[in-house]
Amino acid sequence: MRFWLIAFALLVAANPARAADRLNVVASFSILGDFVRNVGGNSVNVTTLVGPDSDAHVYAPAPADAKKIADAKLVFVNGFGLEGWLPRLVQSAGGKATVVTATSGITPLKLGSDADPHAWQSIANAKVYVTNIRDALAAADPANAEAFKSNASAYLAQLDALDREVREAVAQIPENRRKVISAHNAFGYFAAAYGIEFIAPAGVSTESEASARDVARIITQIRSARIPAVFLENITDPRLIGRIAAETGARVGGTLYSDSLTGEKGDSPTYIAMVRHNIKALTSALSP
Ligand SMILES: [Zn+2]
Repeated sequence: MRFWLIAFALLVAANPARAADRLNVVASFSILGDFVRNVGGNSVNVTTLVGPDSDAHVYAPAPADAKKIADAKLVFVNGFGLEGWLPRLVQSAGGKATVVTATSGITPLKLGSDADPHAWQSIANAKVYVTNIRDALAAADPANAEAFKSNASAYLAQLDALDREVREAVAQIPENRRKVISAHNAFGYFAAAYGIEFIAPAGVSTESEASARDVARIITQIRSARIPAVFLENITDPRLIGRIAAETGARVGGTLYSDSLTGEKGDSPTYIAMVRHNIKALTSALSP
């Protein structure tokens, strides 16, 4: 008995912020997980369902995900239809999870008749996510509310600086060159906030390979709209990208990250790194 008491005391002494004391929360995808980590700091354990380099639109939850939700005090989601798989998952976890919608208060753009879920691509919106996360964490764990508030303030200041960085970078691009082709319709909020036009060619979706006809259509569109750069995420064959670039004179701008961070060792392991990567790729592809 005494041994266990001493062992317990040692454990407590060695870990002032013990894992058991921390608030367990779940974030639906990697970008949201990064926001929650920045606000939660050491007081929160964040588990992300859709990990790095994965697609939150078409996620197939594993049985372990239901357990993660059952163990969590809060479940942070994007909303706007991004996580169509979530309601069933919450149901299978017992239906008791408190779901927090991080986009609450944001007016969605439309993709056809649906809400465009990619609201995080505008930094002003990212700040709304952060304040929603701050308020939800503070309500769930009032003892740490001050810490969440000061973490959020520090991160919001970083986002303000990032927003200025993006605006300064876009200002360097001649106005008539602020347009790119990207296959996946994920940059509507970025386009609206920062004035770069993203054209997603008809007939190309993230779920299928581009056909010869799609490619011909893209080539025509690049020529007629004089689009300086191409970012085709779903054409994985580099020869095809090479052919489009050669036929149109458009530059291949590399990869734009839209819906997912990379792993720790990738070039976009955080939201801020992702935005910096994208703006660097855009400015270098669009400079005259
Ligand atoms: Zn998307």
